[in-house]
Amino acid sequence: MPDLPATGPSAGSVHKESDNALVSELNLILVGPPGAGKGTQAEKLTEDFGLPYFATGNILRAAVADGTELGKKAKEYMDAGELVPDDVIIGVILEALEGEEASDGFLLDGFPRTVPQADALGEALQKVGRKLSGVLLIDVPDDEVVKRLSGRRTCVKSGHTYHVDFDPPKHDEVCDQDGSRLVQRDDDQPDTIRKRLAVYHEQTEPLVEYYEGRDLLRRFDGSRSPTDVHDHVRATVATLRLEDEL
Ligand code: ADP
Ligand code: ADP
Repeated sequence: MPDLPATGPSAGSVHKESDNALVSELNLILVGPPGAGKGTQAEKLTEDFGLPYFATGNILRAAVADGTELGKKAKEYMDAGELVPDDVIIGVILEALEGEEASDGFLLDGFPRTVPQADALGEALQKVGRKLSGVLLIDVPDDEVVKRLSGRRTCVKSGHTYHVDFDPPKHDEVCDQDGSRLVQRDDDQPDTIRKRLAVYHEQTEPLVEYYEGRDLLRRFDGSRSPTDVHDHVRATVATLRLEDEL
């Protein structure tokens, strides 16, 4: 497993050199069932807080589209609505976090999704004297997930999502932001949605207790409007940052 680089002081941020020193970086995770609105909220949060964003689903879909080794390993699991094996995904995400881009903080979406992934992330951060600032759980009931994912449309270029009823694009099947084509993801089909939900409850939901026990979990009612959810999440993240600076 690759080590994360030690982080040195840089403009506008303070990094810790030991357990007693201050940290003012935001290292955040978004957790929640498929379709909870993690990507929708991430887009707003990255703007609010200037955080680099790493979404494992986007990274994996790009790898599949490019036909890379990672994509070849991941495709059959993704098509079946199953998780890509831990040993495939952990290396990818820790490598991304090693980069300069993530050295002042990050927003992770879709990782960790299992307890071994959470352990690997925690250990890698600890090794370089960093820690998580908070884990943002956006929760919605299963029937809402099914409605959201069945109507989701995704921009082929930016990954921005729309919903045919809740957030339709101005012109059918075309992204408002860049005019690219909108598609329905292969795994946003009824059978695969049900499988992904089952996988979430079985393999990812234990992370709620895991992070609650570490006093990192913050819960949000994802069934509210995107603006309401955003207001709550933004206020919480602003508080986390303040607490960290104190
Ligand atoms: P959603 O945003 O709808 O929850 P994602 O785009 O995050 O879905 O993920 C799509 C698929 O990519 C998952 O069903 C899974 O196959 C794979 N995947 C994404 N993140 C991980 C991860 N951390 N571990 C294993 N598989 C993952
Ligand atoms: P995730 O990244 O958790 O899989 P997305 O952000 O892609 O979820 O959202 C899933 C679908 O639900 C998209 O079609 C999106 O437009 C829609 N959506 C997101 N947030 C809300 C919300 N608060 N209320 C209604 N629909 C939403």
